[in-house]
Parts: sequence; C-alpha cells; structure tokens
Amino acid sequence: MKRKLLLISAFVLCLAMIFASFSGAVSAYDESDPRYPLVIVLDPGHGGVDPGAGNGKGGNEREINLKIAKFCKEALEKYPNVKVYLTRTTNDLSDVDKKSIKDGKMSLTARGNFAGKMHANALISIHCNAVNKSSRGAEVWYPISVSWCPNANAVGKGLSSSILSSLGELGLTKRGIFTRTTTKPETERYPDGSVMDYYTVINSSRSCQVPAVIVEHAFIDNTADFNAFLSTDAKLKALGEKDAKGIINYFRTNDDKWVFNDVCLGKQWYSEPIEYMKDKGYINGYSNGCFGPNDRIHRQDFVVILANMKNIDTSLYNYQSKFPDVKKDGYYNAAVNWAASEGIINGYENGKFGVGDALTREQMVTILYNYEKDYLGIDVTLDGNDAEGFEDFGTTSEFAKDAVAWAIDKGLISGFNATTIGPQRFAERSHVAKILMFAELNNLINPEPTPPESQGEEPPPVPDEPPTPEEPSQPGE
Ligand SMILES: [Zn+2]
Repeated sequence: MKRKLLLISAFVLCLAMIFASFSGAVSAYDESDPRYPLVIVLDPGHGGVDPGAGNGKGGNEREINLKIAKFCKEALEKYPNVKVYLTRTTNDLSDVDKKSIKDGKMSLTARGNFAGKMHANALISIHCNAVNKSSRGAEVWYPISVSWCPNANAVGKGLSSSILSSLGELGLTKRGIFTRTTTKPETERYPDGSVMDYYTVINSSRSCQVPAVIVEHAFIDNTADFNAFLSTDAKLKALGEKDAKGIINYFRTNDDKWVFNDVCLGKQWYSEPIEYMKDKGYINGYSNGCFGPNDRIHRQDFVVILANMKNIDTSLYNYQSKFPDVKKDGYYNAAVNWAASEGIINGYENGKFGVGDALTREQMVTILYNYEKDYLGIDVTLDGNDAEGFEDFGTTSEFAKDAVAWAIDKGLISGFNATTIGPQRFAERSHVAKILMFAELNNLINPEPTPPESQGEEPPPVPDEPPTPEEPSQPGE
C-alpha cells in the first residue's frame, strides 16, 4: 500500500450550517427493505501502470487484487439487497473515468470520492502485503478515532475484526487490526481541524463520510503465504468469499443506525430526540455529517428550527430585517423576521439580534414562552411554583423569570440537574432537540384546534334523571 499526499482544499467548517443537506450517516443494512441496502465499494488496489507488490515471479497485486475483488463481489451479490461497485474492473484502467487517472493510474483520492458518490456503507481496499519475505498473514487497517466523521472509526473497527476473523478460517495468520495517523499532523488535517489518517484511501473516503478499511490478505513476497493463499484462482476465490462473509457478518449482526455520524440510535440519551427532529425535517447536521450534540446552538438556528416546526411560509418574510446583523441573504433571514414580527424574539438592547451568538437556556425558554403566550395566545398560567425548588432560580435574569417558571411547570425543562436550572448556561443542541420534541408531542408547537363553540346543532343534552311527566299522575283518590 503506497501513500500519496492528499491535498485538502482549505475551507472553513461553518458550524452554523444547519441547512447542509448531507445525510452522511451510515444506515443499518436491512436485507428485506429496499430503503436500506448494503452498498459496498470494493477497491482492487493499484492497477494500470502500477503493479503494486510482486513475488518476483510474475505474480503481482494488480492482477491478484482485482481477482479477489471480483470473487468478493460475486459472493456479496448472492445476499439480498446488496449493491457492489468496483473502483476498477480491468487492469489497464480503460474503463475508469479518465479524469481520475493520472499517468495511467487511478488516484487514491478518486477512489475515496467514488465511494462517497455511491453513498457506500464502506469501502474495502483489497491488497496483498510485502516486506521482508519472511512475514506471513493477514492484517486490516481502519480509520483512527477523531471528530471528523467519527463513526468511520467505529464501523471500520468492527468491519476489520469481522473480515480478519473470516480470513482466519482459511488458516491465515491473523496479524491484527490497526490504525495509523498521518506523519504530518501539522498540515494534514480534516476540514474540522482533526488530524488525518495516514492512508490516502482511508482519508479520502472519510472526507466523503465513508468508512474505509485496507485488507492486506497475505504476503505476496513470502513463498509459503503465496503458495498457500495466492497461487491459484481457487485460492483467490476463497479469499474473496471470506472477505464477503466478514463484510456481511458485520453489517448483518451490527444493526447500529447512525442518525448522524456522531449520533447512534439507542447508544446515547439524545439519539431518539435527534432522530425524531431529523425525520421530521426540522434539523440537519453539519457538512461533515455530524450533528454536534454537545455543541452550543446559535440563536438564529433555534429560531430556524422553530420556524421549520411551525412550517411558516418563508416567502412572506424575506425582507430586510430590523436587526442590522441579520443579513438579507442569510439562511435564517426569513425565520428571524417571522419571529420578530410575531413578538417571539426581541433582540438585544443594542438593537442587534445576535447572529452567531450561543443561545442560553433562559433565552431559549423565553423564546418558547413568547411563542406560546404572544403568538399562539395560549394561557401560560402556572399550575404550581416548582421553579422555586431549584437553588439557582433566583439567578435567572429578570426578563426570563416568568418563562423559566413556566417551562419548569410545563415539564419542558426539568433542571440542568436535580437542584439547578442553569439559566445562563448555554443550550446544547442535544437538549434543544429533546425540549422541542417534548414541546411538539405535548401540543405546544402546533396545538390541536379546539372544537368550535356549539352552534345549537347538537342534540339536546341527555338529562341525568327521567323527565318529569307534564301531568303527574295523581294518586287515586
Ligand atoms: Zn497494495
């Protein structure tokens, strides 16, 4: 496996990209549901002018890797709802997109980009090893643990173990599964600033939100390994079939559903609210496919989510805002104008709205309180006075006291912990998802319409007691 420097285009990850339309997350494979196919990109390593490692007797990776990949594809496609694509299907690369070929060789970055384009659950790069003629066995390399597309690490690790275990059934020495970080951490970074993986096919796939693993099947330069595992088509077929079995076993038995690249259903307390809000189309993640559950939420993004939930007609509100920091072409412009026009938000005393500022918990519930009271016209009378039970309720800003008391009374917030509310703490995106899901499920966002007043069309009420006869019978005299 050779390595090539991946030049990343410098771009700033905008944490406010709530409208970024990347789904990213690896979905669970469901054999019987066409919505959840298993999409695998197999990457026969090397090719074209690049023969890869050889055994000095004519055997090389270019031919062997391609054969293993084709056998693996054939085996994978026997399972239902599986789609397999190869990064190359011949040795001369004549069938490959010419733009991705340089000097007769398909670039490693192009292979990762291809996996991204196919929305693959994983890319499996197929190789054979060579080092000192005496080493033997199989090993698998998977993505390191960093914040860029973090599920690549979890998926890659599970997949690597499964493939290695399957290959071991052939008698191959299981050398292990490994990760490797770039040797140039000062320059080689993912767009969110986290340090890159060493291998280009892994980091280029990961940049496209696809977990990639490199399977080094056996040592082509070791005579015993070559003769036992690589010397005939039947042996290569066995390797391809074991790869397929390992891939299928992992995706079949691992039903992790990644709502976002950092949110796995059932694994974190906030995964269900986030899935709910995503499925409803109220929230999106960042451009790296993550949601950032522990990140602070920007003030404008909270308003955008609320506007999404109310399904407002944004075309009515695309005008120059009264807030000087609200840009007319900002993705949040209509939502902020709507909220301001309805008295839901007021902005700061200095006249600005505070675009890009983190929203505090007391600001969050004040927006919801205004939404209920002033926009929906709902009675916000308290049932009790539960807020007084929190030791820091007194530290709530004056403007937010009624709102915080109401939010606690309604169960919208249950306190930051058992004794405190944390009114001036920043609202985290996970908490926002939970609170807004609760609000919607409790009819606080789109209340059920109350039945109209009686128009006199209903039948007369049934009396509790039998009617008294008009002419009471008189006891006989
Ligand atoms: Zn190789």
